[in-house]
Amino acid sequence: MSLPTIWVFGDQLNREIGALATATPTTHQILMIESSAKISSRRWHVQRAHFIVASMRKFANELRDAGFQVDYRHAPSMSEGLRDHVAEFRPDEVLVTEPNSYASRMLVNKLNVRVVRSDQFLCHPSEYQAFLGSRKSIKMEDFYRWQRKRLVVLMNGDEPVGDRWNFDEENRQPPPKTGHDRWPQPHTYALDETDQAVVETVRGNCWGEFPIGQWATTRQGALERLAFFVEHVLPVFGEHEDAMLKSNWHLAHSLLSPYLNNGLLLPGEVVEAAESAFREGKVPLNSAEGFIRQIIGWREYIWNCYWQWMPDYAEMNALGATRELPPMFTDISKTKMACMTSVLTGVNSRAYSHHIERLMVLGNFALISGINPQQLTQWMWNSYVDAAEWVMVPNIIGMSQYADGGMLATKPYASGGAYIDRMSDHCKGCAYDRKKRTGSDACPFTVLYWDFFLRHQDRFVKNPRVARQVRAAQQLQDSDELQVTAVSILRKLDNGEL
Ligand code: SF4
Repeated sequence: MSLPTIWVFGDQLNREIGALATATPTTHQILMIESSAKISSRRWHVQRAHFIVASMRKFANELRDAGFQVDYRHAPSMSEGLRDHVAEFRPDEVLVTEPNSYASRMLVNKLNVRVVRSDQFLCHPSEYQAFLGSRKSIKMEDFYRWQRKRLVVLMNGDEPVGDRWNFDEENRQPPPKTGHDRWPQPHTYALDETDQAVVETVRGNCWGEFPIGQWATTRQGALERLAFFVEHVLPVFGEHEDAMLKSNWHLAHSLLSPYLNNGLLLPGEVVEAAESAFREGKVPLNSAEGFIRQIIGWREYIWNCYWQWMPDYAEMNALGATRELPPMFTDISKTKMACMTSVLTGVNSRAYSHHIERLMVLGNFALISGINPQQLTQWMWNSYVDAAEWVMVPNIIGMSQYADGGMLATKPYASGGAYIDRMSDHCKGCAYDRKKRTGSDACPFTVLYWDFFLRHQDRFVKNPRVARQVRAAQQLQDSDELQVTAVSILRKLDNGEL
């Protein structure tokens, strides 16, 4: 028998959380497993696969440098990796911090390991139960305010700093007409030998452009990105939070989600850095609040919805959307739509697009064209550097596809070309005309938006948040012609000719 083992998963790469928080080289040994079944289970974006695996290998090296004995094991599967580790090292016991995915929790429950409570998130599912209490309706805004008070973030006693909880109005400006290079350029780092080796390991079954050091793969690198964001980007974070530009993929987005999601950063330290910058007068309140809302509000809410509703939630399809994922999602040449081309090109280039592009371009298009929500979830999970099941399932099934029938969102996030035109610069020069809803150059967003509300009018006419749109769709003079155009657009979509 030897030291107890702490088994660290690839999205728990932080010495401050769970079982690792109190571990020392003399009290514990470490196990990390790189599972070839996991790597080959999907056609990952190469930058996503590289980010996950390189971060794991470098974290293992950091633990070794700190004096830990680390068994970094390449194994056919996680359970085989554990079995072989136990056979070779014979630990007193194996500890695991609560894994972040449903499947991994099911796995560890079947194995001979001791599961330790995770504090990787600020609101543990058991604490979320206190928020739920006897509430009949659950709103993210209520949860966010509850978190603000509980965690004492941006508070003056019992009141919010600035006497307002919400600055969404200031933070939803369209993009500026000029000065599209005003936002600080994100840093890249030079790839090292570990990065090159990882690319060789994963490239066989991957797609997308190879890594260029866009995404940091160490704790130090992630901390530098956090410091850069707080000093240079956060001061201008709020204003154009919902804007989209073809010439600028990052605007003032934090680009910190990959590190928060694999543990290189923790939400508490990120929030603390943002609040300190505000209190020192370096960041305006609307920016600090908008960013902190994303972290302690939306992110933690989604995390808890996942645990509240899994596993059935992932399979929901309330709108009966059965369309196969269209060819343009895997081959950009299959569309002439300027907005889709821009966002899909960005995903190919860097395994990333910001949240408004995900929700209001890709998600919106999938919703109004009736793409199967499970296929969309799988595609996003494979494609995004910051993807994880806990974040993808509620965001796609609930928020963007309304596939849960309204458990998470109170309305479907459907919009036509007018919204995209107002919030982006995509429509100018597009092959389609965002104002047209009939004819061969009618904007697919505009046509399918109206068609969506006609197709689902019985359901949504009863929803006060969108009943007006349904009634407007019902009153369209050209609704017959519009529906003929929609059929033609969907046929072209399926054939990769849109
Ligand atoms: S016209 Fe329609 S398809 Fe073209 S960029 Fe605008 S919203 Fe997208």
